[in-house]
Amino acid sequence: MEEKNFICTACPMGCKLIVRLDGNEVVQVLGHRCRRGENYGAQEATTPKRMLATTVRARGGLHPLLPVYTSAEVPKAKMQEILAILRDVDITCPVKMGDVILKDIADTGVDILASRDL
Ligand code: SF4
Repeated sequence: MEEKNFICTACPMGCKLIVRLDGNEVVQVLGHRCRRGENYGAQEATTPKRMLATTVRARGGLHPLLPVYTSAEVPKAKMQEILAILRDVDITCPVKMGDVILKDIADTGVDILASRDL
């Protein structure tokens, strides 16, 4: 049986989690003080996800780059694919904060949104 160790970041308590796995199946999560931490540990050990904030090229605005972010967490395993897609994005201004720049990036169901007006 494999064990993975994490610090839970779901709240400031920072509980030390131990996740016991059989292959990719979670057998037990130890060290959590609540259900959120148990879920966090199980997800982190099997399919970790993160928010992503980056920039895309923009034409016709005050700046050559538009800051963007994901509308929800995306799988860490898809980060390189997502960044490769965003490297080829070239939007034309004007853009409003919250505009959808790309829908369903890399088949994640998550959209890429503008972080500011440009
Ligand atoms: S396990 Fe619960 S109490 Fe502990 S850090 Fe995670 S969310 Fe907070």
